[in-house]
Amino acid sequence: MRDPAHEDKVHEVVVVGAGPIGIELAVALQRAGIDYAHLDAGAIGSTLEWWAPGTKFFSSPERIAIAGVPLASLEQEKATREEYLAYLRQVVQTFGLRITQYERVTDIKREGETFVLRSVRSRSRHASEVPPEVTGDSGAPERVWRARRIVLAIGDMHRPHLVGIPGEDLPHVSHYFEEPHRYFGQRVVIIGGKNSAVEAAIRLHRVGAEVTISYRQPEFSERVKYWLRPELLYLIKQKQIGFVPRTVPVRITEEGVAVRPVEGGGDERMLPADFVLLLTGYEQDTTLFERAGVELIGPGRAPKHHPRTMETNVPGVFVAGTASAGTQIGGVKVFIETSHVHVRRIMSAITGEQVDDAALETPEFALPES
Ligand SMILES: Cc1cc2nc3c(=O)[nH]c(=O)nc-3n(C[C@H](O)[C@H](O)[C@H](O)COP(=O)(O)OP(=O)(O)OC[C@H]3O[C@@H](n4cnc5c(N)ncnc54)[C@H](O)[C@@H]3O)c2cc1C
Repeated sequence: MRDPAHEDKVHEVVVVGAGPIGIELAVALQRAGIDYAHLDAGAIGSTLEWWAPGTKFFSSPERIAIAGVPLASLEQEKATREEYLAYLRQVVQTFGLRITQYERVTDIKREGETFVLRSVRSRSRHASEVPPEVTGDSGAPERVWRARRIVLAIGDMHRPHLVGIPGEDLPHVSHYFEEPHRYFGQRVVIIGGKNSAVEAAIRLHRVGAEVTISYRQPEFSERVKYWLRPELLYLIKQKQIGFVPRTVPVRITEEGVAVRPVEGGGDERMLPADFVLLLTGYEQDTTLFERAGVELIGPGRAPKHHPRTMETNVPGVFVAGTASAGTQIGGVKVFIETSHVHVRRIMSAITGEQVDDAALETPEFALPES
């Protein structure tokens, strides 16, 4: 039901997205006494929700801790997905942050001096999936939010990067590696060769799956988690995991995946499979930027923004976190530890507080790690 009092209220800021960076910004706004509303299409931290149980961060705990709250991991090691989700809940509870979860923002428009956001209640399984609420099929009622400024901290992993081959939508094909147990005793073909694919291959081998990897490159990059890469290479050498390098999938059927060599036009080869994991990356949904009038630049269609303030070409619309990077093509450069600084930049722009240039610079990390 519509609440006219709610709809008329003009917030100083509306933050869209309650991943780590949206939450860190909310704490900063609260500390500064700035009125804001905070919405997320799923539960807080929903980008981390679908990782396989026990997946470890590449980044060390101190680098992904937010708002000055220490992140303690069980074994003084890299935090797991579960530890980090518990940590995010703890931060939200400690600061008493009010976050409207399962509320997907579908539209942004400027009306005079204020922005008007429209949202619908959204309870799809993956917050990343475009659900019937958005396509208008659910009949869910719309809510309206008004704000002088908006921060889009919506992340960059809204939907899988589709390979675009026949059979990609079959029920035994997935773009997400969620529950390893599901694959016990099954033949699984994994397409891809980055962290997610390597991690899935090792873990599936350990749950008794018969695993084959098809990867377009001749070998696995040095950027793969350094505690996984040697293990995978050993298992491939021992022929415990199959590896078909320099191949791309062309078709998926009930029986398996047909792959062909990347170059040279060689023959197709059928890799038998009960299940197929297409772990070929994710893309950003740029709809909200487009609705707000934000210019998208480069091959990854990143929202144009000022690097010192994070304000986009639309005055009053800011970006934070991985949302600022568009679809990260050719290597991930924006992640949690390089995004804390976005919060400082936005707060300085909103409050007018002068901050040393050095404090607003992106920290330099060769890899998202130790
Ligand atoms: C397996 C795996 C391992 C990773 N390991 C690391 C690591 O070691 N270190 C690291 O820094 N990063 C890692 N990442 C990436 C990490 O997930 C991101 O860096 C991090 O989530 C970015 O935080 P964020 O707050 O910018 O955005 P996100 O966490 O993506 O949060 C965005 C939020 O916005 C919400 N949202 C999106 N659209 C809307 C909308 N229309 N309306 C309302 N809400 C919306 C989403 O539901 C989501 O909760 C890993 C990713 C994967 C998949």
